[in-house]
Amino acid sequence: MFKGFRRLRRNFEHGVHPAHHKEQTEDLPIQRVPFVKDYVMPLGQHIGVPARPVVEAGERVRRGQLIATPGGFVSTALHSPVTGTIREIGDFRGVDGRFAPAIAIEADAFATQQVDMEAAPDWQSMSLNEFIEAVQMAGIVGMGGAAFPSHVKLSVPDGVRIRQLLINGAECEPFLTNDHRLMVERPGALLDGAEIMRRKLDAEEVIIGIEANKPDAIEIIGQHVRPDQPVRVVPLKVKYPQGAEKMMIKSVFGKEVPAGQLPRDVGVNVNNVGTIVAIADYFLRGMPLIERIVTVAGPGVTYPANLVVPLGTPVREVVRFCGGLRPGSREIIMGGPMMGRPIASLDVPVLKGCSGVLVFTEEQTSGRTEYPCIRCGRCLEACPYFLNPSRLARLSKARMFDEMKAHHVFDCVECGCCTFACPSNIPIVQLIRTAKDDLVHRKESEA
Ligand code: SF4
Ligand code: SF4
Repeated sequence: MFKGFRRLRRNFEHGVHPAHHKEQTEDLPIQRVPFVKDYVMPLGQHIGVPARPVVEAGERVRRGQLIATPGGFVSTALHSPVTGTIREIGDFRGVDGRFAPAIAIEADAFATQQVDMEAAPDWQSMSLNEFIEAVQMAGIVGMGGAAFPSHVKLSVPDGVRIRQLLINGAECEPFLTNDHRLMVERPGALLDGAEIMRRKLDAEEVIIGIEANKPDAIEIIGQHVRPDQPVRVVPLKVKYPQGAEKMMIKSVFGKEVPAGQLPRDVGVNVNNVGTIVAIADYFLRGMPLIERIVTVAGPGVTYPANLVVPLGTPVREVVRFCGGLRPGSREIIMGGPMMGRPIASLDVPVLKGCSGVLVFTEEQTSGRTEYPCIRCGRCLEACPYFLNPSRLARLSKARMFDEMKAHHVFDCVECGCCTFACPSNIPIVQLIRTAKDDLVHRKESEA
């Protein structure tokens, strides 16, 4: 057993303890989903500006070829997940049911689908700015779910020094085990990516935070750390949302990141384990972000699995590979059950931020009658950001969205702890999301 396992179980204040439900997939080795005929790559897969196509309908593309270039600073490139032909550039239905611009690609049934691996960039000779630009052009985003562009996090203002690179292997969402399997199966790639990032950021050390319910990952990574590498593996208390950046910084370093500030303001750069492996895959193998690991689980899936899925693959094909839906399946979530969102159709594509496809049956999704708030305060005790969720929910129901700004609605990370804790089944986080969406859209239309 890794020697630090018993000694260190770091923690933060508040949070909740949902059942893990990880036993379905935590011991299942990662498999590769077969290539299919049709892929759809939405141009906007994260906050910021959508990418701009650099290909045209009818054009032949290779797997890994650039198909869209960043549309601004908070934007990343897109690459073809398959060798094939650009079928169409137009509006396609997205995860939320709205139509949005995307590139449709038809795979070539006779192509080998190998990625051209000859062009791994020489990261050692790059300046930090060149490295940041390369990360953006490789299409790399946060792989934990939010899909925030990684190069933006690397761009620190003058006078800010990153001392610690914190790698997030908490995977605190129930059901998800894709990060767990990645750590167990590719510890070498994780440590290689960590070394590249540490050297480019000139950070003093790397800390890999892993919830203590993954002892095999803690042990295997500990065994792979070379004696000359300044890397610590830190087991963390099993608690949700241990993987939220600010919570993890508090757990590992005991430091608070004040509201309105970022991890870099306390000298820390935080990245998910999948992001770090994506860095290794690009800078050591030349493979841009064209695929990701997805946990397919939940009571409505016939054969749960952890799968390497080319981006743009329809969820329908992923579910089909897993034996299809069980009778009574009712809701499909993209991401984890706490922070993920229901998908509008099985035809939506797997995106860069898709850590899971979870299928729930009627048993889990029906019969949650909403009752009036009883002022029990459980949502306040659960909120790791010390907000007043019940007040935010009340204001949202009254459509007093502007007033919610004074109650720090934008500090809410939508972790869902309040909704989980509420005995009255009030959909607090959904009410908060509605208000945030309204405020953001209004600001955008005023701009
Ligand atoms: S108010 Fe936001 S941050 Fe606080 S528990 Fe609810 S969802 Fe999480
Ligand atoms: S947990 Fe639910 S019932 Fe209790 S105070 Fe919060 S909103 Fe009201």
